[in-house]
Parts: sequence; structure tokens; C-alpha cells
Amino acid sequence: MTGKVAIVGAGPSGCYTAQALLKAAPELEVDVIDALPVPYGLVRYGVAADHQGTKAVTRQFDRIFTRMGGQFFGNLHIGRDLSLDTLRAAYDAVVLTVGLSGDRRLGIAGDDLPGVIGSARLTRALHEHPDAADLPDLGPTPVIIGTGNVAIDILRLLVKTPDELAGSDLGPGPTAWLARQDIRRITIVGRSPAEAARFDPAMIRELAGLARIDAHVAPAPQSDGAIAGLLNTLAAETSGPLPVDFRFQAAPRALRQGSDGLLLDLDTPDGPQTLTASAILTAIGFASDGQLADETAQACYSAGWFRNGPTGALPRCREEGQALAARILAELTPDAARPGRALLRDIPGTVDFAHWQAIDTFEKSAAGPDRCRRKLARRADLLTPPPLQDLAS
Ligand SMILES: Cc1cc2nc3c(=O)[nH]c(=O)nc-3n(C[C@H](O)[C@H](O)[C@H](O)COP(=O)(O)OP(=O)(O)OC[C@H]3O[C@@H](n4cnc5c(N)ncnc54)[C@H](O)[C@@H]3O)c2cc1C
Repeated sequence: MTGKVAIVGAGPSGCYTAQALLKAAPELEVDVIDALPVPYGLVRYGVAADHQGTKAVTRQFDRIFTRMGGQFFGNLHIGRDLSLDTLRAAYDAVVLTVGLSGDRRLGIAGDDLPGVIGSARLTRALHEHPDAADLPDLGPTPVIIGTGNVAIDILRLLVKTPDELAGSDLGPGPTAWLARQDIRRITIVGRSPAEAARFDPAMIRELAGLARIDAHVAPAPQSDGAIAGLLNTLAAETSGPLPVDFRFQAAPRALRQGSDGLLLDLDTPDGPQTLTASAILTAIGFASDGQLADETAQACYSAGWFRNGPTGALPRCREEGQALAARILAELTPDAARPGRALLRDIPGTVDFAHWQAIDTFEKSAAGPDRCRRKLARRADLLTPPPLQDLAS
């Protein structure tokens, strides 16, 4: 089957969709576009620096561009550099997999006070996203709000010793930032009972192996269900120098500025309580920044976090990508007059997959002794990475 499909967003949802399309119909022209000069979205900029096994999915995605005939067009922001209308007119189908880039707000009084930091902002900065703001100092008693895997990712990175970060791709800037933090206590706050926390069991088991953690869980889980049992074991088996308090059934009601930091008012089964925090890290999900939310976007196919909100990990992206590819193939009406990738090739400033391969090779070769990669963090370097500069000179 022939036809031209543009996929906007080279994160996991876009890549799994492209992979499934090309597997079923190798003759298709499938172009994967990203606003960044590099592919793979949150696999590069969200999945934790010390979870390289998860990031290895990119080797599978590489094959879309090296063996399956897909083409990557990076540094092309749809809606800014090229309108969605123009893209739609040039392709037989357009798929939007642009993810979510903003932080969901707590929705309580004071949630915009200085010192309230969203997990999108923090994890993008930790993972050296070129558009990230600087990493903010957290002070001695940060509180993380949220009982999902992103909360645990942040906790783990804050608790790990430098030795425990060996083999990761945490950059020199974030590594120095972590070393500078003088954290004395971390509190994780969740509205739900421990039994209902959305942590992946493997993430809790991993915490139990860390040298510095001394976990406490309140109220202590009564059931011995999977997560409850693991949290009880975590509390029983850890006795490091850094207290980590899990506070369940504690619903944030308001945030206020106090003389010693932020005051977080909580509703608990024992009545109202207040926690003092040197910073509040919200890990309660990502939100749309409003881009591509118009009627044209509604007329396109879509998948992933852009379509579903910030739920679902890589396996869900794969399932959804496969289902979407089947639907596109069933509905596609190819029109040979559409220019497809010829349109994109004429746009100045776009970069191709060979460009990413040069960055990838450079970053791996520039890694320090206990790191697997040293990311180029600035957009200018991502656009003209050192190997390309060397070749040019
Ligand atoms: C901190 C964190 C840790 C995670 N850890 C794990 C984990 O360990 N394991 C796991 O399975 N899942 C993990 N996830 C979930 C996983 O990352 C998501 O399920 C997945 O990335 C969603 O994919 P997506 O393609 O929908 O969005 P994204 O990965 O966000 O990709 C969207 C892409 O679209 C691009 N884009 C945005 N706007 C435009 C535009 N206008 N034009 C062109 N391109 C655009 C972006 O640059 C980006 O590359 C984690 C998520 C986070 C936030």
C-alpha cells in the first residue's frame, strides 16, 4: 500500500505508530517530525537518568529510520515553523503525538507561590531539556506531592549517592546540583491510602536497596496487598541517614508562606495538619500548554499523552500506536498529487536522522568515566554538535 503519513511528535507514541505503519505497509512514506533537533521525547527527557534499561527502547525506534524507511525531520515546530493546515494538505494522513509539556497545578490556594515546583519543570531540567529553566535549590525539607512513579523517580534521584548514580546519563550540571542540595528529610504526600498508591512495585523494591534511605510510612498499611506489603518492607529494612516519610490519606488543602518556609495544610483522618516545607514538588501529572488544540488538530489522528492526558507508560503507547496504525491503514485514501516529504525538505533549518546519529555518537563518546552519555544540553549545540563542527572545519 502506498500513501504519505506525517507524524508530529517523535516520542514513544509517534515512534510506535510509525513502526506499526511501516511494518504493515513498508511502501508507505512515513515522516516523523519533532520540534526538537533530537527524537524520542520523554524517553530522553523524562524517563529517569538512572533507568537506562527503559531508555534502551530507542534502539528499537532507531530501526524505523535506519532500516524501515521512515524519515525524521527535527527542529520543525508544527504550529510555529509550519502550520498544521499546510501539513494536512501535503499528506494523506497526519497524526498528532505531541505529548504534554506543562505541569498540572494542584488547584489549591497558594499553588503558585515561589518554591512550588512542578515535576515537568524539575525532570526536564534534571534531564537537560534544551528549553528547561534552571534547577531550583530545594532546601533541607522538600515535600513531594503525588503517589505515582514520577514522584518515586524524583525521590530516588534525590536520595541516591554519587556511586549509586554510576552508569546513568545524569549530566555534570544536574550532578553538581544534586551534590549541592543539603536535604535533611523528604516527605511524600498522597491523598489516597497506601494500598491505593499507583507506584510500580519494582520502583519500591529499588528504593529498598539505596544506602541513604530511612523510610517511614504513616498510617502504616494494614493490608498486605502488593504495594502495602512492599512499603511495610521498605520501612522495616531501611535505616540510612536520610529520613523519607510517606504520608498517605493526607489531602493538600492550601499552601501558605510561613516564616520558615512553605506551610502545607493537609486534611487527614486525624483532622487538619500542617507540614513545613522548604520546597513543594508536585508530581500530579502533566498538562497541555494549549498548543495544537484547534479544529484542525481535532480533524487529525492523535495518540499518546496528547490524546489521553498524562497516563500510561511505554507499553500503552505501543498498544495504542499499533491500534492507530491499523485504523489509518483501513481509512487511508492516497492521493499521488500530495507532495508529502518534498514539502518538508524545502524548509530551512530542519535536521535529519543522520544528524541525531552524529549527536548520539558524540554524546556517548564524551561520557565521563561513570556515565553512559554526556548530553548536549543547549539548543545551539544540538543544532551544530561538535562532530559536525569538526567535519566542517
Ligand atoms: C518523568 C517521567 C518519567 C517516566 N518514566 C517512565 C518509565 O520509566 N517507563 C515508562 O514506561 N514510561 C515512563 N514515563 C511515561 C512515558 O514517558 C510516556 O508514556 C510517553 O513518553 C508518552 O509518549 P508521547 O509520545 O505521547 O509523548 P512525549 O514523549 O512527550 O513526546 C512528544 C514529542 O512531541 C514533540 N512535540 C511537541 N510539540 C510539538 C510540535 N508542535 N511540533 C513538533 N513536535 C512537537 C516533543 O518535542 C516530543 O518529542 C515517564 C514519564 C515522565 C514524565
